[in-house]
Amino acid sequence: MIPFSPPRIDDKVIAEVTAALQSGWITTGPRTKLFEKKITEYCGCKTTVAVNSWTMGMQVILDWWGIGEGDEVIIPAYTYCASANVIVHSGAKPVMVDLNSEDFNLNVEKVREAITPRTKAIMAVDISGFPADYDLLMKLINEPEIKSQFQGSNDLQNQLGRILLLSDSAHSFGALMNGKRSGSLADISSFSFHAVKNLTTAEGGALCFQLPEDFDHEAIYRNMCIKILHGQSKDALAKTQKGNWKYDVEEPGFKCNMTDLQAAIGLVELERYGENLARRKEIFHRYANAFKSDSWAIEPAFESESKTSSYHLYLLRIKDVTEEQRDAIIQEIFEYDVSVNVHFQPLPLLTAYKKRGYKMEDYPEAYAKYANEISLPVYFDLTDEQVDTVIDAVRKSVKKVMG
Ligand SMILES: *Cc1c(COP(=O)(O)O)cnc(C)c1O
Repeated sequence: MIPFSPPRIDDKVIAEVTAALQSGWITTGPRTKLFEKKITEYCGCKTTVAVNSWTMGMQVILDWWGIGEGDEVIIPAYTYCASANVIVHSGAKPVMVDLNSEDFNLNVEKVREAITPRTKAIMAVDISGFPADYDLLMKLINEPEIKSQFQGSNDLQNQLGRILLLSDSAHSFGALMNGKRSGSLADISSFSFHAVKNLTTAEGGALCFQLPEDFDHEAIYRNMCIKILHGQSKDALAKTQKGNWKYDVEEPGFKCNMTDLQAAIGLVELERYGENLARRKEIFHRYANAFKSDSWAIEPAFESESKTSSYHLYLLRIKDVTEEQRDAIIQEIFEYDVSVNVHFQPLPLLTAYKKRGYKMEDYPEAYAKYANEISLPVYFDLTDEQVDTVIDAVRKSVKKVMG
């Protein structure tokens, strides 16, 4: 069986985790701090805070920014449920918009139509690792008319004086736009280091900050470290220093710090990340080269003049198939011992969001993309031979179902 996206666990990872285990310090400590620094360097952002998942990182950000009851956050209808779930938990309303026709990213003109005086943030999602249109989004939220209807409800929001641009960068670690890396493209970006993602720490995530100059990013870093650890003014490592046991809690915080065991995996992953991206790129091109001769294939966008994907998911689409035919093709592909997937079921198809009144027919582009999409395996250890097996299995399965 060719798996869909196994993590790359080898002797190097095992040795580094073992070293962390034997160091006497297994929770947040020197390895986590080093990992944060290296992510800041790699992404070219102003500061980075490591957390235990994308989800908790984003939850903390919404709380910190004071987003809650009565507020709206704009997201694409086509994303993983986590993007919307955190908004629901904050008390705000997720306002969904449809996608572009040429790629899987949210449509900026639809975003414009969705903005109201209650809009506090836009959360763009880099589906499959191909960055959203941050340049257009940034321009949009800085337009005088849009800016003047913005109503800040606390000091942070008033300091920014406009809608906050968030990035769900769960897929896009290492992606580029106009020469800048994901993590430095929006005001705040959240990465996921879940086991299936491009860079993993088993579970984990990171928040990258790139707010305007007048924000004190060192102060933000210190504040975040407190917010992700119960609100405690000192972390466990600081408390081990002589006579340094006493701490205070000014506001109740969250609990979502990264451990040094996770950071140990992440440090190895990051060190060889270039290798990982290069291999993923080869696999993408191998798929693209093969399927360009198949008239039924719609290939995903992953490289353009201004953008380069992180090559996270290869989202192949099959022309003129219904959702049921797509499902039948997937069933056939599995018969060849090849694992494939679908990314994603648009949010309005999920019970939780149906119940909240979202309707699939309001997002025709998202539905069309979902209905004929099949995600193919992409990972460092996938060999050319295996890629060819996948291509063969897809072609035979399409032929079998579609004739
Ligand atoms: C994986 C994923 C998340 C959630 O990441 P966790 O680290 O599991 O919390 C959020 N958004 C998207 C688009 C994802 O694919």
